[in-house]
Amino acid sequence: MDTAYAVLTIDLDAVRANWRQCNSLMKNGKAAAVVKADAYGLGMEKVAPALAAAGAETFFVATIDEGIRLRGLLPSHEIQILGGLLPGTEPVFLEHRLTPMLNSLGDLERWQTFCHSKRTPLAASLHVDTGMLRLGLPPDELGRLVAEPERLTGVTLSALISHLACADEAGHPLTDQQQRDFCEAYRLLRPALGSSVRLSLANSSGLHRGAEFHFDLARPGCALYGVNPTPEATNPMAQPVVLQGKILQIRHVDTPRTVGYGASHQAQKGQIIATVGVGYADGYLRYLSNRGTVFVGGQPAPVVGRVSMDLITIDVTGVEEINAHPGALVDLIGPDNPVDAVAEAARTIGYEILTSLGPRYRRVYTQETEASERIL
Ligand SMILES: *Cc1c(COP(=O)(O)O)cnc(C)c1O
Repeated sequence: MDTAYAVLTIDLDAVRANWRQCNSLMKNGKAAAVVKADAYGLGMEKVAPALAAAGAETFFVATIDEGIRLRGLLPSHEIQILGGLLPGTEPVFLEHRLTPMLNSLGDLERWQTFCHSKRTPLAASLHVDTGMLRLGLPPDELGRLVAEPERLTGVTLSALISHLACADEAGHPLTDQQQRDFCEAYRLLRPALGSSVRLSLANSSGLHRGAEFHFDLARPGCALYGVNPTPEATNPMAQPVVLQGKILQIRHVDTPRTVGYGASHQAQKGQIIATVGVGYADGYLRYLSNRGTVFVGGQPAPVVGRVSMDLITIDVTGVEEINAHPGALVDLIGPDNPVDAVAEAARTIGYEILTSLGPRYRRVYTQETEASERIL
């Protein structure tokens, strides 16, 4: 007996197809895979081995702890930690064979000292900031590094990276500016960099904006999970995520009354309200109150009233009874309402919808046995 109130189905074949699509755009380089935040909420345990089976060789995560967990899944793949080299964590990187992102001259100095103490030129990547003002070497530190190239001695550089701020907006001038600044940073640093260093600028959107952003290594994340990297055009990515919730109760309104907390929806006589066992505690964002749309047997049913912690109420008036009864599944994310559509209704981005996917769903991975067999 299936006791779950909601089912999250993740199609690993679609994730793999999306990685292959990204990789096929790279004529002279390779696509890595960004699997931070539990593979954008889809589950790193299943997603990362599937991506490795598809051919991904380099993986990016945000935190050291994510990297340690990923190392347990992928014993021999390259794992880079975007968040960088928190002071004192140097031995952890060595122990788990993680590649730190050096985001400042301070990071670089500590890694160089650590390499000296181990008498090995351990691999690290270098992040130069070209327009995020978030992580990475600021311009003045880049200038100092160019003037003092010996700061890199004894360190093996795996990749030189930067990160695009506006690649999801077609034709944004900052994207081209960052591309030029990245090329200039490389030109200045080139004499000090080893020949094996790979250049990496593009996220999912950058990768889909043209070959001038590709360089040697792309870092797609959201596109692997179905978010549209080119929001102004049709989504070229397959949709790996289907989220379905079960109807718990059906109410036929005979006397007009209000629905839910705050009495924010007035139900009319004759209206049929279905209560579904998913709420904001599951990542169905409260902002979708009176805004979201779910699909019941292919028919749209608007969310009426506020999203509660564990429940939503939807208007199923006119929906065929065979599709709207206790135990029936409704699509919260699916072919009719993909992740980007849900995000738009919630005034956010697909990334936030995915990374909010909650722990209470029964998770079903299609194709998972094939994937794990292929990796073994
Ligand atoms: C998250 C992240 C990515 C992936 O970005 P997407 O837009 O999801 O493709 C790439 N690079 C860096 C530095 C990131 O933080």
